[in-house]
Amino acid sequence: MPHTLPVSESFYSIQGEGKCTGVPAVFLRLKGCNLSCGGINTIKTKSLDSGATWRCDTIEVWTKGETINIVDLLESWEQNGWLNHLKNGAHLVITGGEPLLWQDKLVKFLNDFKQFQSFLPFIEVETNGTITPTKKLDSFISQYNVSPKLKNSGMKKEDRLINEALTFFTESQKGYYKFVVSNQSDCDEITNSFIIPFKIPSQKIQLMPGAETKDDCLALSPQVVEWCKEKGLGFSSRLHLLLWDKKTGC
Ligand code: SF4
Repeated sequence: MPHTLPVSESFYSIQGEGKCTGVPAVFLRLKGCNLSCGGINTIKTKSLDSGATWRCDTIEVWTKGETINIVDLLESWEQNGWLNHLKNGAHLVITGGEPLLWQDKLVKFLNDFKQFQSFLPFIEVETNGTITPTKKLDSFISQYNVSPKLKNSGMKKEDRLINEALTFFTESQKGYYKFVVSNQSDCDEITNSFIIPFKIPSQKIQLMPGAETKDDCLALSPQVVEWCKEKGLGFSSRLHLLLWDKKTGC
């Protein structure tokens, strides 16, 4: 049986957020998520509920997708020249939705990649931090970009804050956090619900402006920088928003 992956999209661009901002990268977006930021009904209604103040900006992408044979996927990447980019230092960014929903399939994909290509690129995983990686998958991963969700996502605390997973990412040398903030109470929640209880070192954390458009991102960034200075945390912009506004897959 050929190995497959549930793929929403793949594209070549640059990493737009977090520690590796600006690095060229092949993005592999997998289908599905265990959260629905924007509220429990937001996938159906496309509006906010459950007290959410923002909505997942990729929801319309990761709810779609198809099961793709890994050999076909790698062949298309080869034709596009992306395998060459990966060989020459571009990162592979595995994102979603929540890509850790597909750990067994990812292990098979990365095993096949290594076998067919005789190399592995630097692999980043974008995760909401609710699922602990298996040992097998972890052995392939270079960096986790963990973006835990706050109250303002409209998700219940017991669904978005999973102790075991957050402890794993905090203790892993490969774990880095990026929190989306819009106001002072978001910053206080990050301190009280994440940094203090999980003892997350400040050098592992970046704050990012909670914005859905380029204009909102630019307007909020100076305030977020002030919060970063006050708390001794890093700042991350959202390069994709600044360059391409709301478009995904760029
Ligand atoms: S966890 Fe991420 S991908 Fe999933 S709904 Fe929330 S913002 Fe979207």
